[in-house]
Amino acid sequence: MFNLAGKIAFISGGTKGIGMGIARVLKQAGAVTIIAGTDELRGETIAKELEVDFIPLDVTDQAACKNVIAQIVEKYGRLDILCSNAGIFPQHYLKDMTAEDWDLVHTVNLKGTFFLVQAALNVMEKQHYGRVVITSSITGEITGIQGYSHYGASKAGQLGFMRSAALEYAGQGITINAVMPGMIMTEGLKSFGDEFLSYAKDITPMRALGSPEDIGYAACFLASDEAKYITGQTIVVDGGQVLPEVQEA
Ligand code: NAP
Repeated sequence: MFNLAGKIAFISGGTKGIGMGIARVLKQAGAVTIIAGTDELRGETIAKELEVDFIPLDVTDQAACKNVIAQIVEKYGRLDILCSNAGIFPQHYLKDMTAEDWDLVHTVNLKGTFFLVQAALNVMEKQHYGRVVITSSITGEITGIQGYSHYGASKAGQLGFMRSAALEYAGQGITINAVMPGMIMTEGLKSFGDEFLSYAKDITPMRALGSPEDIGYAACFLASDEAKYITGQTIVVDGGQVLPEVQEA
């Protein structure tokens, strides 16, 4: 396990699912961990359970993103690690998709990433140190799913954003990377229903869904000092889901 003792880590969408798994792992690795989400009641409850701090944040609000990063610096003195993880995945088939459906997904997933990462980088630049880990997806960059063209575009968009951002900050002690989860058992995925979960298991070569902590371990590596020479890169964590060229009967 990589040692994050003394590091200050902030995780958007850390109150559920993958973000909660990342928070658990970073905390276990020794980081002072702060989680955020829009649901304050849930955030406070989960923070107590994980023994981490909670700050309410809607990542679609640029001023709030700046304000939360400023609050963290004021309270903890610095920000070493940002995990930009908050995201939504409502299903809308293209034939019925409205501009509002499209905008909501892009505003939370892509614009929210821009707002939060930009605010964190402004602090990390002054420190000459920072680790940014974005939760993207295999969807969009590698795979597609019916009903998720807006989502896939937002997740591939995060990777395009990451690559240029990584270049802008290379040489300043700051790395910007992404994890690309496959099917991870979270509250969000559970909402697809049991039939889908069972199907998802069957089509995954490892015959299991991932756990939020599986993503946490990859994020922990990218957030570590040992990953200092890696930037603008991705780690796929998917139980082999993207590998098969054909499905064996
Ligand atoms: P989830 O269980 O629904 O959790 C989503 C988290 O994001 C919650 O903490 C939620 O908190 C927060 N959130 C949503 N909208 C927000 C906003 N506007 N501002 C701040 N926080 C917000 O979802 P998940 O499955 O863990 O997914 C987390 C990330 O992983 C997403 O970016 C998703 O695209 C990605 N991902 C998931 C999978 C998977 O299989 N689960 C696969 C690939 C990628 P509140 O409810 O309090 O706002």
